[in-house]
Amino acid sequence: MIGMDSVPLWILKELESEKGMQPFRKLLSTDCIGNMESTLPPMTGPAWPSIYTGLEPKDHGVPDFFVMKKGYTPDIVYYESQKAHPFWKELANKGVKCLVITPATDITLPDYDNVDMITGFPLKARTNSKELEALMRKHRFEGEPNIEKEIKAGKMDVSEASGIFAKSVRSRSDIAIKMMQSKKYGFVYVCFTETDRLQHFVLNRREWRNYLLPVYSEIARYVGFVIDTIDKNGGRLVIVSDHGAQPIRKKFLLNNWLMQNGYLHLNDKAEKEFAKEPDRKAPAEYNIREKIMKSGLRGVYDRMPYHAKRAAYVAFGKVFSGAATSKYTRMHLFDFDMKRSRVFAAISNDPVASIWINDSRFATPSVKNGKEKLMNELKTKLSKVKSYDGGKMFVNIYDGKEYYNGTKKFIPADLLVEAAEGHTIDIFNFSKDTLFMDPEDAKSGDHIRNGIFGTYPKLPDPKVGSVTQVKRFIMKHYGAAR
Ligand SMILES: [Zn+2]
Repeated sequence: MIGMDSVPLWILKELESEKGMQPFRKLLSTDCIGNMESTLPPMTGPAWPSIYTGLEPKDHGVPDFFVMKKGYTPDIVYYESQKAHPFWKELANKGVKCLVITPATDITLPDYDNVDMITGFPLKARTNSKELEALMRKHRFEGEPNIEKEIKAGKMDVSEASGIFAKSVRSRSDIAIKMMQSKKYGFVYVCFTETDRLQHFVLNRREWRNYLLPVYSEIARYVGFVIDTIDKNGGRLVIVSDHGAQPIRKKFLLNNWLMQNGYLHLNDKAEKEFAKEPDRKAPAEYNIREKIMKSGLRGVYDRMPYHAKRAAYVAFGKVFSGAATSKYTRMHLFDFDMKRSRVFAAISNDPVASIWINDSRFATPSVKNGKEKLMNELKTKLSKVKSYDGGKMFVNIYDGKEYYNGTKKFIPADLLVEAAEGHTIDIFNFSKDTLFMDPEDAKSGDHIRNGIFGTYPKLPDPKVGSVTQVKRFIMKHYGAAR
Protein backbone atom coordinates (compact mmCIF):
# COMPACT_ATOMS: atom_id res chain seq x y z
CA MET A 1 0.00 0.00 0.00
CA ILE A 2 1.22 3.46 -0.90
CA GLY A 3 -0.31 6.46 0.87
CA MET A 4 -0.04 9.99 -0.46
CA ASP A 5 -1.47 12.85 1.53
CA SER A 6 -3.77 15.24 -0.32
CA VAL A 7 -3.43 13.81 -3.83
CA PRO A 8 -6.47 14.07 -6.13
CA LEU A 9 -6.84 12.47 -9.54
CA TRP A 10 -6.65 15.81 -11.35
CA ILE A 11 -3.10 16.61 -10.15
CA LEU A 12 -1.86 13.17 -11.23
CA LYS A 13 -3.45 13.74 -14.65
CA GLU A 14 -1.90 17.21 -14.97
CA LEU A 15 1.56 15.84 -14.18
CA GLU A 16 1.45 12.40 -15.82
CA SER A 17 3.19 13.39 -19.06
CA GLU A 18 6.09 15.07 -17.25
CA LYS A 19 9.56 13.62 -16.88
CA GLY A 20 9.86 10.86 -14.29
CA MET A 21 6.09 10.29 -14.06
CA GLN A 22 5.97 7.14 -16.24
CA PRO A 23 4.78 4.80 -13.42
CA PHE A 24 1.79 7.05 -12.74
CA ARG A 25 1.18 7.27 -16.50
CA LYS A 26 1.00 3.48 -16.56
CA LEU A 27 -1.54 3.41 -13.71
CA LEU A 28 -3.67 6.16 -15.25
CA SER A 29 -3.61 4.82 -18.80
CA THR A 30 -4.87 1.44 -17.58
CA ASP A 31 -7.57 3.15 -15.52
CA CYS A 32 -6.26 1.76 -12.23
CA ILE A 33 -7.03 4.86 -10.14
CA GLY A 34 -10.41 6.38 -9.22
CA ASN A 35 -11.87 8.91 -6.80
CA MET A 36 -12.32 8.14 -3.12
CA GLU A 37 -14.43 10.27 -0.80
CA SER A 38 -12.83 11.61 2.36
CA THR A 39 -14.28 12.35 5.78
CA LEU A 40 -16.08 15.57 6.75
CA PRO A 41 -14.11 17.80 7.03
CA PRO A 42 -11.69 16.27 4.50
CA MET A 43 -8.67 16.51 6.76
CA THR A 44 -5.57 14.46 7.47
CA GLY A 45 -6.51 14.13 11.17
CA PRO A 46 -9.76 12.18 10.73
CA ALA A 47 -9.28 10.72 7.22
CA TRP A 48 -6.20 8.51 7.73
CA PRO A 49 -7.59 6.89 10.91
CA SER A 50 -10.75 6.11 8.88
CA ILE A 51 -8.56 4.42 6.25
CA TYR A 52 -6.72 2.41 8.92
CA THR A 53 -9.72 1.39 11.03
CA GLY A 54 -12.70 1.42 8.66
CA LEU A 55 -14.44 3.64 11.23
CA GLU A 56 -16.14 7.01 10.81
CA PRO A 57 -14.75 9.96 12.84
CA LYS A 58 -17.66 9.58 15.30
CA ASP A 59 -16.33 6.11 16.16
CA HIS A 60 -12.54 6.55 16.05
CA GLY A 61 -12.87 9.82 17.96
CA VAL A 62 -10.90 12.22 15.73
CA PRO A 63 -13.19 14.75 13.95
CA ASP A 64 -10.30 17.13 13.10
CA PHE A 65 -6.96 18.07 14.67
CA PHE A 66 -8.96 19.45 17.62
CA VAL A 67 -12.17 18.62 19.49
CA MET A 68 -14.61 21.19 20.88
CA LYS A 69 -14.88 21.47 24.66
CA LYS A 70 -17.66 22.63 26.98
CA GLY A 71 -15.78 25.85 27.82
CA TYR A 72 -15.28 26.80 24.12
CA THR A 73 -11.57 25.97 24.20
CA PRO A 74 -10.66 23.44 21.53
CA ASP A 75 -8.41 20.63 22.68
CA ILE A 76 -5.84 18.86 20.52
CA VAL A 77 -6.76 15.26 19.65
CA TYR A 78 -4.62 12.43 18.30
CA TYR A 79 -5.53 9.17 16.69
CA GLU A 80 -5.01 6.59 19.43
CA SER A 81 -4.09 3.43 17.61
CA GLN A 82 -4.19 1.37 20.83
CA LYS A 83 -7.91 2.14 21.22
CA ALA A 84 -9.01 1.96 17.58
CA HIS A 85 -6.39 -0.34 16.13
CA PRO A 86 -5.19 -0.09 12.52
CA PHE A 87 -5.85 -3.03 10.19
CA TRP A 88 -2.19 -4.08 10.20
CA LYS A 89 -2.61 -5.21 13.79
CA GLU A 90 -5.16 -7.75 12.52
CA LEU A 91 -2.80 -8.77 9.71
CA ALA A 92 0.08 -9.13 12.19
CA ASN A 93 -2.12 -11.29 14.44
CA LYS A 94 -2.88 -13.51 11.45
CA GLY A 95 0.86 -14.00 11.02
CA VAL A 96 1.41 -11.54 8.14
CA LYS A 97 4.78 -9.83 8.54
CA CYS A 98 4.25 -6.07 8.10
CA LEU A 99 6.49 -3.14 7.23
CA VAL A 100 4.83 0.19 8.02
CA ILE A 101 6.72 3.39 7.22
CA THR A 102 5.45 6.76 8.47
CA PRO A 103 1.69 6.09 8.45
CA ALA A 104 0.23 9.62 8.64
CA THR A 105 -1.41 10.30 12.06
CA ASP A 106 -0.25 7.03 13.66
CA ILE A 107 2.36 8.18 16.16
CA THR A 108 2.42 5.04 18.32
CA LEU A 109 4.76 2.08 18.00
CA PRO A 110 2.95 -1.28 18.07
CA ASP A 111 2.95 -3.24 21.34
CA TYR A 112 2.51 -6.46 19.35
CA ASP A 113 4.78 -8.56 17.10
CA ASN A 114 5.15 -8.90 13.35
CA VAL A 115 5.28 -5.17 12.52
CA ASP A 116 8.47 -3.26 11.70
CA MET A 117 7.50 0.38 11.87
CA ILE A 118 8.60 4.01 11.65
CA THR A 119 5.88 6.18 13.24
CA GLY A 120 4.13 8.87 11.23
CA PHE A 121 3.28 12.57 10.99
CA PRO A 122 2.92 14.85 12.96
CA LEU A 123 5.49 13.79 15.56
CA LYS A 124 9.14 12.95 15.08
CA ALA A 125 9.61 9.52 13.48
CA ARG A 126 10.46 6.66 15.85
CA THR A 127 11.08 3.00 15.13
CA ASN A 128 10.92 -0.40 16.83
CA SER A 129 13.40 -2.07 14.50
CA LYS A 130 17.21 -2.06 14.63
CA GLU A 131 17.47 -2.34 10.85
CA LEU A 132 15.14 0.62 10.35
CA GLU A 133 17.02 2.62 12.93
CA ALA A 134 20.30 2.07 11.10
CA LEU A 135 18.71 3.04 7.78
CA MET A 136 17.15 6.17 9.28
CA ARG A 137 20.54 7.21 10.57
CA LYS A 138 22.19 6.48 7.22
CA HIS A 139 19.60 8.58 5.35
CA ARG A 140 19.37 11.15 8.14
CA PHE A 141 15.62 10.60 8.08
CA GLU A 142 13.48 11.97 10.93
CA GLY A 143 10.05 12.11 9.28
CA GLU A 144 8.44 14.88 7.31
CA PRO A 145 10.84 17.87 7.17
CA ASN A 146 9.73 20.51 9.66
CA ILE A 147 10.20 23.55 7.44
CA GLU A 148 6.72 25.07 7.36
CA LYS A 149 7.71 27.96 9.63
CA GLU A 150 10.61 28.94 7.39
CA ILE A 151 8.40 28.89 4.29
CA LYS A 152 5.68 30.91 6.03
CA ALA A 153 8.19 33.50 7.19
CA GLY A 154 9.52 33.87 3.66
CA LYS A 155 12.93 32.63 4.81
CA MET A 156 12.71 29.64 2.55
CA ASP A 157 11.78 29.74 -1.11
CA VAL A 158 9.17 27.16 -2.17
CA SER A 159 11.51 25.71 -4.79
CA GLU A 160 14.06 25.03 -2.07
CA ALA A 161 11.29 23.55 0.09
CA SER A 162 10.25 21.35 -2.81
CA GLY A 163 13.80 20.01 -3.06
CA ILE A 164 13.91 19.25 0.67
CA PHE A 165 10.53 17.47 0.51
CA ALA A 166 11.66 15.49 -2.55
CA LYS A 167 14.77 14.36 -0.70
CA SER A 168 12.68 13.19 2.23
CA VAL A 169 10.40 11.23 -0.15
CA ARG A 170 13.50 9.56 -1.55
CA SER A 171 14.73 8.65 1.94
CA ARG A 172 11.40 7.01 2.83
CA SER A 173 11.43 5.10 -0.46
CA ASP A 174 15.05 3.97 -0.18
CA ILE A 175 14.52 2.80 3.39
CA ALA A 176 11.44 0.81 2.31
CA ILE A 177 13.18 -0.70 -0.72
CA LYS A 178 16.21 -1.74 1.37
CA MET A 179 13.96 -3.39 3.96
CA MET A 180 11.98 -5.27 1.28
CA GLN A 181 15.21 -6.50 -0.29
CA SER A 182 16.58 -7.81 3.00
CA LYS A 183 13.43 -9.24 4.65
CA LYS A 184 10.26 -10.99 3.53
CA TYR A 185 7.06 -9.04 4.17
CA GLY A 186 3.44 -9.94 3.51
CA PHE A 187 2.25 -6.34 3.75
CA VAL A 188 4.15 -3.10 3.16
CA TYR A 189 2.74 0.38 3.68
CA VAL A 190 4.72 3.53 2.93
CA CYS A 191 3.01 6.90 3.40
CA PHE A 192 4.18 10.21 1.93
CA THR A 193 2.88 13.45 3.48
CA GLU A 194 5.20 15.89 1.69
CA THR A 195 2.63 16.32 -1.10
CA ASP A 196 0.10 17.96 1.22
CA ARG A 197 2.61 20.20 2.93
CA LEU A 198 3.97 21.57 -0.33
CA GLN A 199 0.61 21.92 -2.10
CA HIS A 200 -0.72 24.26 0.58
CA PHE A 201 1.99 26.73 -0.45
CA VAL A 202 1.98 26.45 -4.24
CA LEU A 203 -1.30 25.38 -5.85
CA ASN A 204 -2.50 28.84 -6.91
CA ARG A 205 0.91 29.90 -8.23
CA ARG A 206 1.48 30.00 -11.96
CA GLU A 207 4.44 27.60 -11.81
CA TRP A 208 2.81 25.10 -9.42
CA ARG A 209 3.71 22.15 -11.65
CA ASN A 210 7.42 22.96 -11.41
CA TYR A 211 7.24 22.99 -7.61
CA LEU A 212 5.29 19.73 -7.34
CA LEU A 213 7.14 17.71 -9.96
CA PRO A 214 10.30 17.00 -7.90
CA VAL A 215 8.16 15.47 -5.13
CA TYR A 216 5.73 13.61 -7.39
CA SER A 217 8.47 12.17 -9.59
CA GLU A 218 10.23 10.84 -6.47
CA ILE A 219 7.01 9.11 -5.43
CA ALA A 220 6.67 7.86 -9.03
CA ARG A 221 10.11 6.30 -8.76
CA TYR A 222 8.92 4.30 -5.74
CA VAL A 223 5.63 3.41 -7.47
CA GLY A 224 7.76 2.14 -10.38
CA PHE A 225 9.75 -0.10 -8.05
CA VAL A 226 6.54 -1.54 -6.58
CA ILE A 227 4.94 -2.14 -10.00
CA ASP A 228 8.09 -3.88 -11.28
CA THR A 229 8.20 -6.06 -8.16
CA ILE A 230 4.55 -7.04 -8.65
CA ASP A 231 5.13 -7.76 -12.37
CA LYS A 232 7.98 -10.09 -11.42
CA ASN A 233 6.74 -11.70 -8.20
CA GLY A 234 2.98 -11.16 -8.04
CA GLY A 235 1.09 -9.33 -5.34
CA ARG A 236 -1.06 -6.25 -5.49
CA LEU A 237 -0.55 -2.52 -5.12
CA VAL A 238 -3.14 -0.41 -3.33
CA ILE A 239 -2.63 3.33 -3.70
CA VAL A 240 -4.65 5.74 -1.55
CA SER A 241 -4.97 9.39 -0.69
CA ASP A 242 -6.88 10.68 2.33
CA HIS A 243 -8.42 13.68 0.50
CA GLY A 244 -7.68 15.89 -2.49
CA ALA A 245 -6.46 19.42 -3.04
CA GLN A 246 -7.37 22.50 -5.10
CA PRO A 247 -5.99 25.97 -5.79
CA ILE A 248 -7.66 28.64 -3.65
CA ARG A 249 -8.71 32.03 -5.05
CA LYS A 250 -10.69 33.40 -2.10
CA LYS A 251 -11.37 32.77 1.56
CA PHE A 252 -14.89 33.26 2.93
CA LEU A 253 -14.97 34.73 6.45
CA LEU A 254 -17.60 32.56 8.11
CA ASN A 255 -17.58 33.92 11.68
CA ASN A 256 -17.67 37.40 10.21
CA TRP A 257 -20.83 36.36 8.33
CA LEU A 258 -22.34 34.92 11.53
CA MET A 259 -21.63 38.26 13.25
CA GLN A 260 -23.16 40.30 10.43
CA ASN A 261 -26.29 38.16 10.63
CA GLY A 262 -26.69 38.56 14.38
CA TYR A 263 -25.83 35.00 15.43
CA LEU A 264 -22.46 35.77 16.94
CA HIS A 265 -21.36 38.74 19.09
CA LEU A 266 -18.02 40.10 20.21
CA ASN A 267 -17.47 40.78 23.90
CA ASP A 268 -17.00 44.37 25.07
CA LYS A 269 -13.21 44.20 25.12
CA ALA A 270 -12.96 42.82 21.58
CA GLU A 271 -15.65 45.22 20.39
CA LYS A 272 -13.50 48.19 21.44
CA GLU A 273 -10.30 46.75 20.02
CA PHE A 274 -11.82 45.73 16.71
CA ALA A 275 -13.33 49.19 16.26
CA LYS A 276 -9.81 50.65 15.96
CA GLU A 277 -8.23 50.86 12.54
CA PRO A 278 -5.99 47.85 11.92
CA ASP A 279 -2.30 48.76 11.91
CA ARG A 280 -1.68 50.11 8.45
CA LYS A 281 2.06 50.13 8.82
CA ALA A 282 2.30 46.36 9.11
CA PRO A 283 1.10 44.81 5.87
CA ALA A 284 0.75 41.06 5.86
CA GLU A 285 3.70 39.33 4.21
CA TYR A 286 1.55 37.68 1.61
CA ASN A 287 0.25 41.06 0.51
CA ILE A 288 3.78 42.21 -0.20
CA ARG A 289 4.54 39.01 -2.05
CA GLU A 290 1.43 39.41 -4.19
CA LYS A 291 2.38 42.97 -5.02
CA ILE A 292 5.87 41.88 -6.04
CA MET A 293 4.53 39.05 -8.16
CA LYS A 294 2.18 41.38 -10.02
CA SER A 295 4.66 44.22 -10.46
CA GLY A 296 7.51 44.97 -12.83
CA LEU A 297 9.90 43.84 -10.10
CA ARG A 298 8.72 40.28 -10.61
CA GLY A 299 11.29 39.49 -13.29
CA VAL A 300 14.10 40.85 -11.14
CA TYR A 301 12.92 38.83 -8.14
CA ASP A 302 12.54 35.60 -10.13
CA ARG A 303 16.05 35.80 -11.56
CA MET A 304 17.73 36.39 -8.20
CA PRO A 305 19.67 33.59 -6.57
CA TYR A 306 17.89 32.12 -3.59
CA HIS A 307 20.19 33.62 -0.93
CA ALA A 308 19.50 37.13 -2.22
CA LYS A 309 15.75 36.73 -2.36
CA ARG A 310 15.06 37.37 1.29
CA ALA A 311 16.93 40.68 1.22
CA ALA A 312 15.18 41.67 -1.99
CA TYR A 313 11.85 40.73 -0.50
CA VAL A 314 12.42 43.04 2.47
CA ALA A 315 13.59 45.87 0.23
CA PHE A 316 10.66 45.49 -2.19
CA GLY A 317 8.35 45.21 0.80
CA LYS A 318 9.32 48.72 1.85
CA VAL A 319 8.40 49.99 -1.59
CA PHE A 320 4.94 48.48 -1.29
CA SER A 321 4.23 48.84 2.40
CA GLY A 322 2.34 52.08 1.84
CA ALA A 323 -0.01 50.40 -0.60
CA ALA A 324 -0.34 46.97 0.96
CA THR A 325 -2.65 47.56 3.87
CA SER A 326 -4.31 44.91 5.93
CA LYS A 327 -7.95 45.52 6.68
CA TYR A 328 -8.41 42.35 8.67
CA THR A 329 -8.27 41.72 12.41
CA ARG A 330 -7.59 38.29 13.84
CA MET A 331 -10.24 36.98 16.23
CA HIS A 332 -10.48 33.98 18.54
CA LEU A 333 -13.24 32.14 20.36
CA PHE A 334 -12.40 34.09 23.55
CA ASP A 335 -13.28 37.33 21.74
CA PHE A 336 -16.95 36.32 21.59
CA ASP A 337 -19.63 37.05 24.14
CA MET A 338 -21.01 33.54 24.35
CA LYS A 339 -23.92 34.53 26.60
CA ARG A 340 -25.37 36.42 23.64
CA SER A 341 -24.00 34.21 20.82
CA ARG A 342 -26.22 31.51 19.39
CA VAL A 343 -23.98 30.07 16.67
CA PHE A 344 -20.23 29.89 16.10
CA ALA A 345 -17.77 28.25 13.72
CA ALA A 346 -14.59 26.76 15.16
CA ILE A 347 -11.63 24.44 14.60
CA SER A 348 -12.02 23.55 10.91
CA ASN A 349 -10.38 26.27 8.85
CA ASP A 350 -10.64 24.64 5.45
CA PRO A 351 -13.21 24.20 2.64
CA VAL A 352 -15.56 22.28 4.96
CA ALA A 353 -16.36 24.27 8.11
CA SER A 354 -17.83 23.04 11.40
CA ILE A 355 -20.62 25.08 13.00
CA TRP A 356 -21.95 24.66 16.55
CA ILE A 357 -25.20 25.83 18.10
CA ASN A 358 -24.47 27.26 21.56
CA ASP A 359 -26.83 24.96 23.47
CA SER A 360 -26.75 23.12 26.79
CA ARG A 361 -23.62 21.17 25.82
CA PHE A 362 -21.67 24.37 26.47
CA ALA A 363 -20.73 26.43 29.53
CA THR A 364 -22.84 29.50 28.80
CA PRO A 365 -25.61 28.31 26.49
CA SER A 366 -27.84 30.87 24.82
CA VAL A 367 -30.06 28.49 22.88
CA LYS A 368 -32.46 26.66 25.18
CA ASN A 369 -35.46 25.90 22.99
CA GLY A 370 -36.00 26.00 19.27
CA LYS A 371 -32.68 24.52 18.18
CA GLU A 372 -34.32 22.78 15.21
CA LYS A 373 -35.95 26.02 14.07
CA LEU A 374 -32.66 27.89 14.37
CA MET A 375 -30.89 25.15 12.39
CA ASN A 376 -33.44 25.36 9.58
CA GLU A 377 -33.20 29.14 9.49
CA LEU A 378 -29.41 28.89 9.32
CA LYS A 379 -29.52 26.31 6.53
CA THR A 380 -31.84 28.50 4.49
CA LYS A 381 -29.70 31.59 4.98
CA LEU A 382 -26.42 29.79 4.31
CA SER A 383 -27.78 28.25 1.12
CA LYS A 384 -28.39 31.79 -0.20
CA VAL A 385 -24.89 33.15 0.48
CA LYS A 386 -23.05 34.09 -2.72
CA SER A 387 -19.48 33.07 -3.47
CA TYR A 388 -16.88 35.52 -4.75
CA ASP A 389 -17.84 34.63 -8.32
CA GLY A 390 -21.54 35.13 -7.60
CA GLY A 391 -22.47 31.45 -7.50
CA LYS A 392 -23.56 29.45 -4.47
CA MET A 393 -21.03 29.90 -1.63
CA PHE A 394 -21.95 26.59 0.04
CA VAL A 395 -22.40 23.69 -2.34
CA ASN A 396 -23.27 21.24 0.45
CA ILE A 397 -24.72 21.69 3.91
CA TYR A 398 -24.53 18.54 6.02
CA ASP A 399 -26.38 17.82 9.22
CA GLY A 400 -24.00 17.09 12.09
CA LYS A 401 -26.66 15.03 13.84
CA GLU A 402 -26.67 12.61 10.93
CA TYR A 403 -22.92 12.57 10.29
CA TYR A 404 -21.85 12.20 13.92
CA ASN A 405 -24.95 10.23 14.92
CA GLY A 406 -24.96 11.06 18.63
CA THR A 407 -21.31 10.28 19.31
CA LYS A 408 -20.18 10.60 22.92
CA LYS A 409 -16.51 10.91 22.01
CA PHE A 410 -16.60 14.70 21.48
CA ILE A 411 -19.11 17.56 21.18
CA PRO A 412 -20.09 17.15 17.53
CA ALA A 413 -20.63 20.07 15.16
CA ASP A 414 -24.28 20.75 14.26
CA LEU A 415 -23.66 21.76 10.68
CA LEU A 416 -20.86 21.06 8.22
CA VAL A 417 -20.77 23.46 5.28
CA GLU A 418 -18.76 22.85 2.13
CA ALA A 419 -17.45 25.84 0.16
CA ALA A 420 -17.69 26.28 -3.61
CA GLU A 421 -14.71 25.34 -5.75
CA GLY A 422 -11.76 27.73 -5.46
CA HIS A 423 -12.87 28.91 -2.03
CA THR A 424 -11.80 27.98 1.45
CA ILE A 425 -13.44 28.99 4.71
CA ASP A 426 -11.70 31.20 7.25
CA ILE A 427 -12.96 31.45 10.83
CA PHE A 428 -10.30 33.77 12.22
CA ASN A 429 -10.46 37.01 10.27
CA PHE A 430 -12.73 39.96 10.88
CA SER A 431 -13.38 42.88 8.57
CA LYS A 432 -16.01 45.56 8.64
CA ASP A 433 -15.97 45.88 4.87
CA THR A 434 -15.92 42.43 3.32
CA LEU A 435 -16.68 38.73 3.75
CA PHE A 436 -13.81 37.69 1.48
CA MET A 437 -10.06 37.66 1.73
CA ASP A 438 -7.16 36.64 -0.48
CA PRO A 439 -5.55 33.41 0.73
CA GLU A 440 -2.20 33.78 2.48
CA ASP A 441 0.83 31.85 1.16
CA ALA A 442 0.03 28.78 3.25
CA LYS A 443 -3.50 28.66 1.80
CA SER A 444 -2.46 28.85 -1.82
CA GLY A 445 -3.91 25.37 -1.93
CA ASP A 446 -6.43 23.67 0.30
CA HIS A 447 -8.35 20.41 0.42
CA ILE A 448 -11.24 18.92 -1.54
CA ARG A 449 -13.27 15.87 -0.62
CA ASN A 450 -12.02 13.49 -3.31
CA GLY A 451 -8.80 11.67 -2.69
CA ILE A 452 -7.92 8.55 -4.72
CA PHE A 453 -8.08 4.80 -4.49
CA GLY A 454 -6.26 2.62 -6.97
CA THR A 455 -5.09 -0.95 -7.45
CA TYR A 456 -2.49 -2.59 -9.65
CA PRO A 457 -3.08 -4.93 -11.36
CA LYS A 458 -6.40 -3.26 -12.08
CA LEU A 459 -9.54 -4.67 -10.50
CA PRO A 460 -12.76 -4.06 -12.46
CA ASP A 461 -14.73 -2.81 -9.47
CA PRO A 462 -12.85 -2.65 -6.16
CA LYS A 463 -15.93 -1.11 -4.44
CA VAL A 464 -13.89 1.36 -2.44
CA GLY A 465 -15.64 4.71 -2.79
CA SER A 466 -14.81 6.17 0.58
CA VAL A 467 -12.03 6.14 3.16
CA THR A 468 -13.98 3.85 5.51
CA GLN A 469 -14.04 1.07 2.89
CA VAL A 470 -10.27 0.62 2.47
CA LYS A 471 -9.80 -1.60 5.51
CA ARG A 472 -12.48 -4.07 4.39
CA PHE A 473 -10.88 -4.26 0.94
CA ILE A 474 -7.46 -5.04 2.40
CA MET A 475 -8.74 -7.61 4.89
CA LYS A 476 -10.70 -9.33 2.16
CA HIS A 477 -7.57 -9.53 0.02
CA TYR A 478 -5.67 -11.28 2.77
CA GLY A 479 -8.62 -13.49 3.71
CA ALA A 480 -8.93 -14.69 0.14
CA ALA A 481 -5.21 -15.14 -0.25
CA ARG A 482 -4.83 -17.37 2.79
ZN1 LIG B 1 -4.25 14.92 4.53
